Amino acid sequence: MAQLEELWTRKCTTCKEIKPARTHHCSVCNKCVFLMDHHCPWINNCVGIDNQRYFLLFVFYLMVGTAYMTMTIMSIWHHHSYRQHKTMMTFLIVLDPILMVVMAGFTGWNWFLACVGNTTIEFWTQMSAKEEDGRARVAFDTVKDNLYRVFGTHKIFRILSPSMRNVPFTGLEWSFMFMDEGFDHAGYPIVPDEDPEAPDGDYEYYEEEPSSDTNHTQVVPDDEDKELELILIQ
Ligand SMILES: [Zn+2]
Ligand SMILES: [Zn+2]
Repeated sequence: MAQLEELWTRKCTTCKEIKPARTHHCSVCNKCVFLMDHHCPWINNCVGIDNQRYFLLFVFYLMVGTAYMTMTIMSIWHHHSYRQHKTMMTFLIVLDPILMVVMAGFTGWNWFLACVGNTTIEFWTQMSAKEEDGRARVAFDTVKDNLYRVFGTHKIFRILSPSMRNVPFTGLEWSFMFMDEGFDHAGYPIVPDEDPEAPDGDYEYYEEEPSSDTNHTQVVPDDEDKELELILIQ
């Protein structure tokens, strides 16, 4: 992080800490979070780069659990135990399908964002900006690779299993990528024609592009995906 401070001068206006690309300040946690998706009141924490996979599994298995509960109650519809506890069973047979539908929607939405490599904040920001052209691409080309960013594995069984494996990304990768490719902190292209002395850091990135390029992207210049992966590994 100290090394990044020399290159990435953008700071959070609230907590005054250095603010790498794709980082957002959470007003509830009162700190900046890498790849912040949203602040979840149910887990009383932010969903960001380190715990996104746990959150995705949390909502997925909640959906599976509520679906299972719905099926088990429906399966004893004609059983005498259903009639014995009719009030409770009626309550559950209304509650469980509602929870199941809500969790299915929530799971679908969050897994969709993970598959396209976006966070909730970025998705709505891009939707409202309506300026897709020329913006830096933060997602990988394939669903498989986007899920790899979240889960650290390509295997579906490992994705759906609980694991303490480390996420292979630190969150700083996009800062270097934006810098190398001539984008500002939000992924917009830097316009070099404007007054070069006006703001501080952003225009230096543009000028530094050749040297940064040498440091980070020389390894596999032909393959964009591999090139990005190599940057990320560093
Ligand atoms: Zn902050
Ligand atoms: Zn938060």
